[in-house]
Amino acid sequence: MILAGYDGILFDLDDTLMDHTGASIKGLDSWCAELGLPTGQYERWAEIEYKWVSRYERGDITHPQQRRERAKEFTGQLNLSDEEATQLYAGFIRGYQAHWTAFNNAIPTIHNALAAGKKVGILTNGGREMQEGKVRAGDLVIEGVELIPLVDYDAPKPRPRAYSLGCEKIGTAPERTAMIGDNWLNDVEGARQAGLTGVYFYQGLAHQPKPQPADQEVISSLSQLVFSD
Ligand SMILES: [Mg+2]
Repeated sequence: MILAGYDGILFDLDDTLMDHTGASIKGLDSWCAELGLPTGQYERWAEIEYKWVSRYERGDITHPQQRRERAKEFTGQLNLSDEEATQLYAGFIRGYQAHWTAFNNAIPTIHNALAAGKKVGILTNGGREMQEGKVRAGDLVIEGVELIPLVDYDAPKPRPRAYSLGCEKIGTAPERTAMIGDNWLNDVEGARQAGLTGVYFYQGLAHQPKPQPADQEVISSLSQLVFSD
């Protein structure tokens, strides 16, 4: 699709620029092997992740708490202390980060946007330290690209403040900014409600609702994005 009439492009990070699902599947298997648990449990992990991350996004629990709760529920160790649960979760993270890679088209797509004169940002609900590590691992540290980890501002997507913050950080107006991402609610619907254009990157992942036939702003590969004036 041709993105014309925009000054700014905001990309989501996980499952948009970085292969989050691929790294999670492999990382989870390493962690399970370490713990002596059966591998191949990604579907269950993803359900637990969705449940607790949504609670964080709604403002019910803190970001560190959603991590601890995921580790506790997945392993069935519900009575762990905060410290024990944090340590347990760290085991998953070690496996996950060992498999961090960007999608093939991520780097060329960002360069195309910059070459077309667009302001570019990465608007992500993750924490700064982890997301900085990810963009380094994916070779996505590119001059002119602003990483905006929303945990820092306690304003995760889909809260309206997330998108206005993203626009402020790259210096564009919401109506002149397009947000591209895999999460229908966080990257498309929420962005549209905040006055941006939301482009749905649909790859048929488990968490992705099918696009509506009438929705024109859908891509199945980053390479389909064409940036013009
Ligand atoms: Mg995502």
